[in-house]
Parts: sequence; structure tokens; C-alpha cells
Amino acid sequence: MRKTGTAAFILSAAFAAAALAPAPRAFAAEAVNIYTTRQEVLIRPLLDAFEKETGVRANVVFAREGLIERLESEGANSPADVLLTADVSYLLQAEGKGLLQPVQSEVLEAAIPAQYRDPDDTWFALALRARPIMYAKDRVKPEELSTYEALADPKWKGRICVRSSSHVYNQGLVASMIAADGGEAVEEWAKGFAANLARPPAGGDRDQIKAVAAGECDIAIANSYYLAGMLKDTDDPSQAEAARKVAIFWPNQDGRGAHVNISGGGVTASAQNRDNAVKLLEFLVSDEAQRLYADAVNEYPVKPGIAPGEVVASFGTYKADPLSLEEIGKHQAQAVDIMDAAGWQ
Ligand code: FE
Repeated sequence: MRKTGTAAFILSAAFAAAALAPAPRAFAAEAVNIYTTRQEVLIRPLLDAFEKETGVRANVVFAREGLIERLESEGANSPADVLLTADVSYLLQAEGKGLLQPVQSEVLEAAIPAQYRDPDDTWFALALRARPIMYAKDRVKPEELSTYEALADPKWKGRICVRSSSHVYNQGLVASMIAADGGEAVEEWAKGFAANLARPPAGGDRDQIKAVAAGECDIAIANSYYLAGMLKDTDDPSQAEAARKVAIFWPNQDGRGAHVNISGGGVTASAQNRDNAVKLLEFLVSDEAQRLYADAVNEYPVKPGIAPGEVVASFGTYKADPLSLEEIGKHQAQAVDIMDAAGWQ
């Protein structure tokens, strides 16, 4: 509670200061206010490029959690023009609560494949986050791996690490399996998979990768940008050292493809600077911004034909499940039920 209050204060103080301060630059009157779950240090270079190109100042309010609740409580008075977030479930939630407005843009339509944007044009993917299987290079041969489904095989008993089922990343993955295999089959699968876990789920994706490196388990499911982040970590050499013991296996390549989620954004229903908000989204799918953004967050560019960053490119190319994110959202509640019933904590 106190945290939210403090954050709200900083927020209003920041925007009040922005409004009252004498215009430091000729374009200061033109602004766009961004609520984001992405750390400003990651996206600042991108926003600097946006400011330089358009003359629109980009103000950022960062919060890891609670942005949707905040938008809801601020209602029509919200200073936010754009919501930028990771994982489609947050964008679907915002859409469901009427917090986003539709945007018809030929630029966004041309840059973003249809499966990665809302059919009603309220949210748009800006980058793709793949969730492959990762394995210990010295204990698992890639030939032993094939699909997410095959991880329920008893040969993996006590060998798999994965984070909690309460996290949206796993809910999205299991929802995509329900869409592909049907609920009954996934119910059976979840029991077998949960029985193969090396330990009760704890920590985030990075912790599962570290557990594989440390020999606590042989396999993990984790978003690929975590492995890239560890490999690129120059502050703590132990991160890269651990990451080098782990490799990515792209599952379901003979079938539907690997599970992919997104980071993305939309224009808020209350946007006071709607034109600038659209300008920002359009800028974020330009070739230059796609490269910068993907490299900053170690995700894959959403725009076809743009190469990912160097470390991410070293993971090889893969086929992505073409399932629409809208469809993933529809199966999310059932995914939670199935994981609960299977005892996947
Ligand atoms: Fe993450």
C-alpha cells in the first residue's frame, strides 16, 4: 500500500514538475506519458531516439506491478497515454477492463504480423519472447529432446526445473498446449510433467537456468532472454559462467513450433496525447527501434526481417507456434485449473 502511495506521489510530482517547469527545449510542450513495467534504463536509449526524431518528449513511469490497478483507479484523469508491458496477459487484462483504445494504423499493421496484435487493434506486440527448453550440455543430448509434451516422459523423473504455475509465463505455455492438444490431453500431461520436477518450483526463470548449471536438474523451461541476459552480464562473471553450461533446445519444431509470448503496448483509453502515443508505437516498430529494443531486452524483433541481437542470434533460428495471442488468453483460466489439479505448485 505504502509503496503504491509513494509511487503515485513520485508520479504526480514528476508530471507536475514537467508541467510547471519552463520548457527546456523547443518541443517540450509536446509530450507522451508512458506507464511501463520495463525498467527505464533499458528503454531510455530508444526513447531518446524517439525524442530526437519526433520532438515529442517521452516521460516514463516505471513500476514492476500494479500499473493496471493504477490506470483503473485514475480513470479518465490518468496522465498515462501509453501502456508498455511484458506478456500478453497484462495487455488482455487492460483491454478487458476498457483501459485501452483502438488504434487504426497502417504502419503498425504493416510491421506486426496479425497473430501478434489484437484483432480489435487495442494492443500491439513490440517484441517476441520465446519460451524454449534449456538443458545441461554435459548431461543431456539434444537428440533426447523433442517437444514440450515429451517432458512428461518418466525418463525425466526428478530432472526438470520450472518456476511456479502461478506465473503467467507458464500459464501462457500451458494455454498454448490446450489449444493444440485439447484440455484432457494436457491434464494427463501436466500430471506426468509435475511428477518429473526435481524440486518444488521456486524462483524465476533465471533461477531455473542456474539450477541446471549447478546440477540440481538437467532440464528447464525458461524464456530465452534470461539466458542471453546471463551471457551478457558483465557485472557478475558467475552468471555467464553458469549460462555457458546450458543450451537452448527449440521444441515442437516438427509440429506447431515453440511457444512465443510478447512484450507490447497500447494507447490508454484516457490518453490526452493520443497522436503522440500513436507516434511512439509507430516509432517502436521502425527498423532502427526494433533493433535497439530487441537488443536492449534480449527479445526477438516482432517485425519480420529484422535480425535479433548478436547473443540472441547465437541461439539459432526457430519456428514459432503461429497460435494467436488472443487464443492463448482464452485458455489461460483452464491452464491454471489444470496445473493446480496436477499439483504443479
Ligand atoms: Fe521475464
